[in-house]
Amino acid sequence: MQEVDVLVVGGGPAGLSASRAAARSGASVICVERKPKIGTDVRCAEGIGLAFLEALPFKMPENILQWHVNGIVFWNGNEPLKRTGGLWEGCVIDRQKLEIWLGQQATASGAKIWTDAQLQKLKLEGEEVSAATVNWKGKEITVKPGKVIAADGVNSTVLQEMGHYEKRPLSLAKVTSWEMTGLTLEWPRFEQVLIDDLALGGYGYIFPKSPTRANVGVGSCVLDEVDALFEQFVELPFIKKQVKQGRRVKNKSKEAPFLGVSEKWAFGNVLLAGDSANQNLKPFIEGIIPGIIAGDIAGELAASEPEVKEQEYRKRVEAAVPGWKESQQLTGAIKTLFAKRAPSKQFLQLVLAAGE
Ligand SMILES: Cc1cc2nc3c(=O)[nH]c(=O)nc-3n(C[C@H](O)[C@H](O)[C@H](O)COP(=O)(O)OP(=O)(O)OC[C@H]3O[C@@H](n4cnc5c(N)ncnc54)[C@H](O)[C@@H]3O)c2cc1C
Repeated sequence: MQEVDVLVVGGGPAGLSASRAAARSGASVICVERKPKIGTDVRCAEGIGLAFLEALPFKMPENILQWHVNGIVFWNGNEPLKRTGGLWEGCVIDRQKLEIWLGQQATASGAKIWTDAQLQKLKLEGEEVSAATVNWKGKEITVKPGKVIAADGVNSTVLQEMGHYEKRPLSLAKVTSWEMTGLTLEWPRFEQVLIDDLALGGYGYIFPKSPTRANVGVGSCVLDEVDALFEQFVELPFIKKQVKQGRRVKNKSKEAPFLGVSEKWAFGNVLLAGDSANQNLKPFIEGIIPGIIAGDIAGELAASEPEVKEQEYRKRVEAAVPGWKESQQLTGAIKTLFAKRAPSKQFLQLVLAAGE
């Protein structure tokens, strides 16, 4: 039996950030991650907006910022529409390096990170988690936590164990994504995004990592159609001419929250952080930076407050994540599009107008 102030479930961006913050605030912290190593099997397109970096609770090391992009080329039918600077300027990061670095930060702050450690069961007293069963390298260990931070992603075991995992229409999106090499990118310093009928209210993308390497994908809430939509995307003439010599080297596909599986961000002594709480920016479901920021706030609150205060947590996250309010408004527009399965040209215009 292990007693700990804060048990963090999940060692992705949100969980590692939460572990770092809770340990820095003086709590004893155990972070359990089911993968054998932090930073492995990254499932992400790795794009971030440069403007959001300033909102992070730390300075991101330069070597994580792998490939700078000057803006986004939106495909409007066959017509490319270029946006540069400001919110359009970004970076495709090396997420493996980010997670390894964040893990080192958490450990240096005093958190213990257990890898190959899967949360299996929770013992509940009402809404309070009194004990957690973790399978750590094949051994069953019981952890008695003061607080729990559920940073275990879109299909959160914590939420499932607590009976708060709720699948509704549009709860989840699926992103079929491949890291590809051998590409002939038309604009290596631009991300490319296609929002139209093909993605059925979702989008297709090319996020470059070098002139010949990129994450290429399609995301949509029509879960069982996304793989087929990806194959259609790479056959579009203006995409095909860039990817036809390419090789798919890493499968980076995964589900992502759209409306999310929980509307609440806290239950009993549990705070949710990252994808488990649907903390991402729409329309592109950018969750890396919001997850890190929310993890940081959750970690600090879990370590310093005797009770979990959901409203305070929500307020602080909403204030700290740039564009949060506007992003929530876009969710409404996307819902309407899905409801009608309407052509999404107006949506494209809305997104582009938002950049003016
Ligand atoms: C294909 C794809 C492309 C994306 N592209 C972008 C992008 O370009 N930019 C962007 O900002 N966002 C992007 N996102 C979203 C972003 O990846 C997520 O929002 C982000 O990873 C959320 O971080 P997290 O720490 O909450 O969850 P995760 O990264 O999912 O981490 C959760 C961790 O918990 C662990 N875990 C789960 N269950 C257990 C358990 N029972 N016990 C122990 N450990 C457990 C998992 O192994 C995982 O490591 C993309 C998402 C997808 C699917």
